[in-house]
Amino acid sequence: MTPGQHFVVFGTEATALRFRALGYSCRDTIQVCFPGPKVLLGFLFRTPLEAESLTANILQHGQGGLHIDPCRIPTGDGGASPAAQRRAASRASQNAPISGRRAAESNELGRMERRGSAATYMAERSSEMLGRWPPNVLLVHSRTCQSAACVQGCPVRALGLEAAFFPKFQDFDGVMAWLQTLLA
Ligand SMILES: [Zn+2]
Repeated sequence: MTPGQHFVVFGTEATALRFRALGYSCRDTIQVCFPGPKVLLGFLFRTPLEAESLTANILQHGQGGLHIDPCRIPTGDGGASPAAQRRAASRASQNAPISGRRAAESNELGRMERRGSAATYMAERSSEMLGRWPPNVLLVHSRTCQSAACVQGCPVRALGLEAAFFPKFQDFDGVMAWLQTLLA
């Protein structure tokens, strides 16, 4: 495998530990929710980098990042993510949530605060207009679901309105295609 390449392993925590022992770093977990309910646990791994930084690794080996944008979840109201909506509100009020405290001061107070320039915070980011950041929970419909209505036991139906925040698939092949896009 190429340095910095991502891959997903499905299995148990013990499976994940074996891959960790081989030197791969675990970047995230993935839960695939099937009808039943049944949950398949996945682990997102990355092979070690062979450059000083992630950016350098991407330039040298073409690997290290994830394809976030094609996997974003459009929101109902035009697609923009909550982050994009916060920035738009901030532009309208000309009021950005930027702390005037120095980093050491914030740490002492136990606060996570945003520093930097208000203009940078307020600027529109094209990626965020595509929708929400892809979540690590994926939903698979029951085989008997119709496009108009989900059947009893379908995880999409069980989540109700909240299902809008997650990618939804007809079958596991759909999940694999989505993961391939994310990792490509
Ligand atoms: Zn369904």
